[in-house]
Amino acid sequence: MSVFQVVVLLVAAFVLGSVIGSFLNVCIYRIPAGESVVSPRSRCQSCKTTIRWYHNIPVFSWVLLRGKCAYCGEKVSVRYALVEALTGLVYVFTLWHFGPHPVLPLIWIFCSALIVITFVDLDHKIIPDVISLPGILFGFACSFVVPWTNWIDSLLGIVVGYGSLWIVGIAYYMLTKKDGMGGGDLKLLAMLGAFLGWKAVFPVIFFSSLVGSIVGVPMAILGKKGRGMMLPFGPFLAGGGLFYFFWGPQIINMYFSFFSP
Ligand SMILES: [Zn+2]
Repeated sequence: MSVFQVVVLLVAAFVLGSVIGSFLNVCIYRIPAGESVVSPRSRCQSCKTTIRWYHNIPVFSWVLLRGKCAYCGEKVSVRYALVEALTGLVYVFTLWHFGPHPVLPLIWIFCSALIVITFVDLDHKIIPDVISLPGILFGFACSFVVPWTNWIDSLLGIVVGYGSLWIVGIAYYMLTKKDGMGGGDLKLLAMLGAFLGWKAVFPVIFFSSLVGSIVGVPMAILGKKGRGMMLPFGPFLAGGGLFYFFWGPQIINMYFSFFSP
């Protein structure tokens, strides 16, 4: 493949990802409210004017309109553009990382679901079942065609994913008499286990707890969140899942080759 063709493919992946990201924004705002993600068409939150397609071009429209509604001039959160850009970059990165593999669309669906889960959890401290439960089925279905796992490992991943956090939750409750783990986290880890296979579950818990404590401890000390207050764990699990998916096996191999005689 020539350099030109590679660049065209990567740009196409960004355009596709940012368009999907625009739809993910709709999901992030409407799913927690129990609204349809299909209709009505996107409207300004302030003046309720239906947004025209040329004002709804991912990332570019937000920049061209300098973050304001074209009709009423009300500020539009930069997060819309960030989610679009993030999704575009994730699509570009996965294409770069895996190459134009036939299962790439499945990877894109998986990443998109994790992006929605991350932002809904940040906003509302919930992980919507309408994403995680179909996500578990999707992961299991994928296991029949993807090269990195098989259906037995996927099935085990669901059980180990759900069960391990369930046990952590019980232990946490016995120690502190507080619920530390939301039920949504269990289903999210089951979804990650379904897609990645059971071998991913403990490394994912390790990566996400590590990053979670790096972020959470200073926040608790700075007093932004009271002690015992729940920091949403979903974004860390989602990030840990993707981190494992991209680099986990290499890191684990490195670790064992380093420590084995
Ligand atoms: Zn408006």
